[in-house]
Amino acid sequence: MPLVLPSLPYATDALAPYISRETLELHHGKHHRAYVENVKKLVRDTALEGRALEEVMREAARDPSLRTLLNNAAQAWNHAFLWQSLRPKGGGVATGPIAERIHADFGGHDRLVEQLSIAATTQFGSGWAWLVFDGARLQVVQTSNADTPILHGKTPLLTIDVWEHAYYVDYRNRRDAYVTAVIDRLLNWDFANANLARALAASRRPVMAEAAGR
Ligand code: FE
Repeated sequence: MPLVLPSLPYATDALAPYISRETLELHHGKHHRAYVENVKKLVRDTALEGRALEEVMREAARDPSLRTLLNNAAQAWNHAFLWQSLRPKGGGVATGPIAERIHADFGGHDRLVEQLSIAATTQFGSGWAWLVFDGARLQVVQTSNADTPILHGKTPLLTIDVWEHAYYVDYRNRRDAYVTAVIDRLLNWDFANANLARALAASRRPVMAEAAGR
């Protein structure tokens, strides 16, 4: 992922009434922009200048003195992923190939919603709830603050931002109402299917290379 502030994939009022224009303008235009600008400042004139966000994160994660860079880079990545995790007229029961995996790994859509909702509402303080693929099965995980599953060897499929800046303008302290609205109305299952397909193709690649080498 390049180190830029990506444009939102929809208009700033497209997720209303579940996420308002005011929230999106602040969240994308101020919070996300600040993370990207901070990373740019911190890598300027260093060996990490011009590198992809993922590389910056991996390098920064190895060096405790680069904690501020790591946090800002991870937040830049997480927010770029977040905008694609949402869409107008999204949410509801998952469609496409991921629906079968949800049934197999969670026991059905309702069980997934329950786990995702618990992960998002019980994350203490700032953080994220994620649907991830661990290489074998789907999982729901939480991360704190800027932490991201890609630093833990898991492939993100969808995320819900539960920092207060994501919901306070629209929902005040009612994080549970925000989480329900995101799950029921906004999650982008097409994006989740595309992420899962890429992860499965990547996991098959070494096997195919091995087979071709025989
Ligand atoms: Fe955020």
